[in-house]
Amino acid sequence: MPGYELFDDAEKKEVMDVLETGIYMRYGFDGPRNNVWKAKELEQALTERFDVKYAQLTSSGTTALSTAMAALGIGYGDEVIMPTFTFVASFEAVLSVGAIPVLVDVDDTLTLDPAAVKAAITPKTKVVMPVHMCGGMADLDALKAICKEHNLLLLEDACQAIGATYKGQALGSIGNAGTFSFDFVKTVTCAEGGVVLTNSEDVYTKCDGYTDHGHDHLGVDRGADLHPFLGYNYRISELHAAVGLAQIRKLDKFLEIQRNNKQVLKAALEGIPGVTFRRLPDPKGDAATFLSFFLPDAEKAAAAAAAIKAAGIPAFYWFDNNWHYVRKWNHFTNGVSLTGFGPEVKAVMDTYKTKQFPASDAIISRTISTPINLAWDEKELEARAQKLAKAVKSVL
Ligand SMILES: *Cc1c(COP(=O)(O)O)cnc(C)c1O
Repeated sequence: MPGYELFDDAEKKEVMDVLETGIYMRYGFDGPRNNVWKAKELEQALTERFDVKYAQLTSSGTTALSTAMAALGIGYGDEVIMPTFTFVASFEAVLSVGAIPVLVDVDDTLTLDPAAVKAAITPKTKVVMPVHMCGGMADLDALKAICKEHNLLLLEDACQAIGATYKGQALGSIGNAGTFSFDFVKTVTCAEGGVVLTNSEDVYTKCDGYTDHGHDHLGVDRGADLHPFLGYNYRISELHAAVGLAQIRKLDKFLEIQRNNKQVLKAALEGIPGVTFRRLPDPKGDAATFLSFFLPDAEKAAAAAAAIKAAGIPAFYWFDNNWHYVRKWNHFTNGVSLTGFGPEVKAVMDTYKTKQFPASDAIISRTISTPINLAWDEKELEARAQKLAKAVKSVL
């Protein structure tokens, strides 16, 4: 799964190009940079690889989400529909633009249940944000239909699904905007970084300015740029972009390894009575970063996760995880914020102190995910498959 597993001379070479110029910033310094523009080059590579018109790099996946929201015009008092199962960054980004996170249940796709989305729509709803978790995809046809019917925007948090597709289109390129994270444990890494993908020139232009203090980037002299709107500094550095440039060229190889390795682990669990698999609305498009499966009940799932770990295989039992599932987001559900909330945001945040998500609990309490690595050799893969199956069988 993490691209850092296959670092080699390619990353070094790209970083050395930048070190040799001494220009680590993505903008300006046109002379001394000697035509080395790694961030621009990576943006170009991303638009080509994911068949999308525009790509705006950012300092992280979190800032990519904040940027996408701002560029889509999502702000104070707007409601963003998002799942109960995601990484904390998804709601951090919503709150960062003053918008209201409206958590809704997940189904066996491990992301938004379309029926729950429909039920959560209010006059303040502006955007639906599925999170394509663990390399797989949301039920995008159903979500797109809801967005169309209710005139809502679709923002894909594809931070965990780089290279995955839905009906032939790259995840992240399908909604009004989509984001990837290039943090250190993602399939493609820049060490830290992120990107907003969009086919809208307007959204792109706003992302370009928002990530750099509102600069319009139209002049040759940075000091003379105009600032059509307020922005922040969410820039990526040339050093980070250089790492990503080497990594993006390896993505197809990463995907091939992941898909092969996942198939072997999955085959080992197939046919064990009581084991079922996470639903993938387009199985061919799976990026295969994780194998996610269900056990018949919460007790068996917790026991299986413990047995898998005891056998030396990593297993995520998300129900007890305090980064990925609402049940243990205590700082979020208790609204512990250093800066406070505006009254409209606070009114909704207060509801999370007592709100329960039984439908999500029923799914997540039975879910286990095991990561798919890139560096395993065949022997190790076989040994893991056998240990995994043995551990799961031991609790059934
Ligand atoms: C990793 C991740 C992010 C945020 O990415 P960072 O680059 O770590 O800020 C956002 N959403 C999801 C679902 C993620 O997994």
